[in-house]
Amino acid sequence: MTVQIKEDIINRINALSREQVYRVKMELSKSGYNQKRIQEMNRTLLLNILLKNGVCSRAQLAKLAQLKPATITNIVSDFIRFGIVREVGLLTDSKGRRYIGISINNDEYGVLAIRLSRRNFAVGIFNLSGDAVAVEREEIQDGMEPEIVFEKMIEKGKRLVESSKRKIIAIGMAIPGPYSTKKGRIEIMTGFAGWNKIPVQEQLEEIFQIPVFIEQDANAGALAHYWHDDILKDKMLIYIAVGQGVGAGIIDNGQLIKGAIGTTGEIGHMSINYRGPRCSCGNCGCLELYCSSLAFMRKVNANLKTEKNLTIEEAAKLLREGNEEIRKLYLEACDMLAVGIGNIIYNFNPAIIILGDEMAHVAPEMMLARVSEYIRERILPGIYEETQIRISAGKIDSMIHGAALVAIQDVFQNSEQYFTNI
Ligand SMILES: [Zn+2]
Repeated sequence: MTVQIKEDIINRINALSREQVYRVKMELSKSGYNQKRIQEMNRTLLLNILLKNGVCSRAQLAKLAQLKPATITNIVSDFIRFGIVREVGLLTDSKGRRYIGISINNDEYGVLAIRLSRRNFAVGIFNLSGDAVAVEREEIQDGMEPEIVFEKMIEKGKRLVESSKRKIIAIGMAIPGPYSTKKGRIEIMTGFAGWNKIPVQEQLEEIFQIPVFIEQDANAGALAHYWHDDILKDKMLIYIAVGQGVGAGIIDNGQLIKGAIGTTGEIGHMSINYRGPRCSCGNCGCLELYCSSLAFMRKVNANLKTEKNLTIEEAAKLLREGNEEIRKLYLEACDMLAVGIGNIIYNFNPAIIILGDEMAHVAPEMMLARVSEYIRERILPGIYEETQIRISAGKIDSMIHGAALVAIQDVFQNSEQYFTNI
């Protein structure tokens, strides 16, 4: 097999590797040149370069990671022995020279990814490049206890793991926040009480007997875009999940900003109206009371008074067919969202803001146009011009995708622990 190397791909890795090489060096200057640690960090760096690019030759890896060819040869042979990478045939570069291509081995191992929302959940198997192999979704019926939802989720996960031809080595889960990393529990899920009693991480580890990593859904979405979009890697990116709740994942220089206990980006509970209605978090006029899909659908159903409550998909269809009332309510929600985004722009000065989740899927172009217009009118021009606003265009839910990447990142950071015992 011959693979043509694309120049733009090489440029993209350059951005990634510059930043990662810098990070490795910084880390080493802090922790000292412990041989074991150096090896671990070099391995992670190479796996991340392969994750971003798909296929590289050994020479390209050496150049991008700024490592000696001999070091690359050693690490790559270890990886081939672990089964985490493989040789994929011959590459031809722009000058017609041929090299053996190395890529992540997507057939041998995989991770289980879970995404929990207030009204539904999804469970899926992903390969080590973070591509979905099988994803199943299920609705959560009104009034269903969290324990029952959790049981159903586990059942689905078990079935997927058992039927997978890949060995599943870690689990990543994306949940609506706030989630406390200290306690391993969901602190509050507005509109869905009872989750704070379940030690989610502990129970999943006990059942599946593999490491489990939990991340807030918006953080997971941000990671998915960071790894799989064509975005300059040293730019600050903020992913805003405008779904049944509202949250933001913030990535600066390749790292998620988490805060003291991991709740950074809980913008759904940022007040945009101090005289507004009381939210179950205790604050008044929280952003998500105005622009989450739950708030939007409550208004749609209250105003339209159809025989049976509409689903968000049905409302989206009516909007596309020209329903004026739904259009008005959707634009109102977009304006409220834009108020929140304006605050975020001043707080973080991101280069890119990506809007995703249920509300963004209702009418993506309308949301993008409305939010951009609102921001343009109200943010200082010099700042607005340097802020790019996009809509998440992923075919699959960015957040379950990101949940898989959270698990994959741990596998890459600790490859020896994962593979030498297998
Ligand atoms: Zn609130």
